[in-house]
Amino acid sequence: MEEGLRFTCQKGCIKCCDTRGYVYLTEEDMVRAATFVELTPAEFETRYVYRTKHLLRLRKPKGSQCRFLRSDGCSIHPVKPTQCRLFPFWPELVADRSLWRDTARRCPGIGQGNLIQIGTATEIASEMERAYPTTYSRC
Ligand code: SF4
Ligand code: SF4
Repeated sequence: MEEGLRFTCQKGCIKCCDTRGYVYLTEEDMVRAATFVELTPAEFETRYVYRTKHLLRLRKPKGSQCRFLRSDGCSIHPVKPTQCRLFPFWPELVADRSLWRDTARRCPGIGQGNLIQIGTATEIASEMERAYPTTYSRC
């Protein structure tokens, strides 16, 4: 078995955005995104964010996808939330080869390109744990 993971994001693909599930963001993500779309963080939060006790997530109207998704990709790409930026290097996927392989069914970039050493992949994934401590402390 290879001691690493292959991944290269595929040009023009939006499959990981055009899917079910929530997009969580950190406070820093929110400030960056707000600045990018020329809103204050408070305005951005009111318009786009649902805040729970421990988490922030993008509002997703029923039956529709992320409000920043366009046919050619993410309209806030340079400042997209941490979970979007790090996908598919999420701790649960990096740690489990069969989940990683399953995820390839919805991410055509998995299995493509240069081999990324497992230590590097784990280091990338650890940013998720730091960004979303309440989520990963439950693991
Ligand atoms: S914020 Fe951007 S990258 Fe994240 S789900 Fe929405 S469109 Fe996709
Ligand atoms: S599904 Fe995979 S290849 Fe497609 S945009 Fe997302 S990360 Fe890139």
